[in-house]
Amino acid sequence: IISVVDVRKSFGAFEVLKGVSLDVKKGEAICIIGPSGSGKSTLIRCINALVEIDSGSILVENQEVNDERLDKLKLRRKVGMVFQQYNLFPHKTALQNVMMAPINVLKQDKKEVEERARKLLAKVRLTGKENNYPGELSGGQQQRVAIARSLAMRPDIMLFDEVTAALDPETVKEVLVTIRELAEEGMTCLLVTHEMKFARDVADHIYFTDKGVIVEHAPPAEFFENAKDERTKTFLGQIL
Ligand code: ATP
Ligand code: MG
Repeated sequence: IISVVDVRKSFGAFEVLKGVSLDVKKGEAICIIGPSGSGKSTLIRCINALVEIDSGSILVENQEVNDERLDKLKLRRKVGMVFQQYNLFPHKTALQNVMMAPINVLKQDKKEVEERARKLLAKVRLTGKENNYPGELSGGQQQRVAIARSLAMRPDIMLFDEVTAALDPETVKEVLVTIRELAEEGMTCLLVTHEMKFARDVADHIYFTDKGVIVEHAPPAEFFENAKDERTKTFLGQIL
């Protein structure tokens, strides 16, 4: 469903992605891990065309993302993205935040949108918080609103960029549970994460990046027990 082939990207003289290739099949959960600055965020931002690539190819559902003729808004409807900063609208309630895009962008019927938004909030375990403003919610709760908001657009693929990195430890788990449920229901998920236990439990495949290259990739059992590259071993040694 996603095919990244030999992608290069520079910011000025600095090459952030040095020929990266990666494949995600429908229904898979793929984790990308690696040191800070290795290009993880840049890579996933290329996938929904937030960053333009210099060379190589990225196909999402067989469409070239880098084609000028591609409708980027359409692409971003198919590919939901959740960031470290949840960026909810502070003056809108949880429910209103989830309802906004389907009403404003998809021009859907308000009543149907509301019904579905309530279901999505229930799915991320926020029943009872519909009318709370972001400021009245914990970080983990806000992040789950952000996930529900993304799901409201009915994406085929979800990208998650370190969505738990800014959260208090006690709220990390509830967000990971939500993502895990999504993955288990068959949502195609591409995640950048530092949560190794989560990656080991949930990922179908793990990619390790360092300095703009994919150093190695493997199923989690093999990756964690039998990493081959010295850079991977060093990284895992530091964090496990
Ligand atoms: P982290 O784990 O800290 O989030 P990362 O692996 O996600 O790191 P990126 O955010 O992809 O790394 O950044 C890789 C490099 O590219 C960094 O050195 C960063 O400073 C640089 N970079 C990223 N975006 C831009 C930009 N828009 N302009 C210039 N340089 C950038
Ligand atoms: Mg990043």
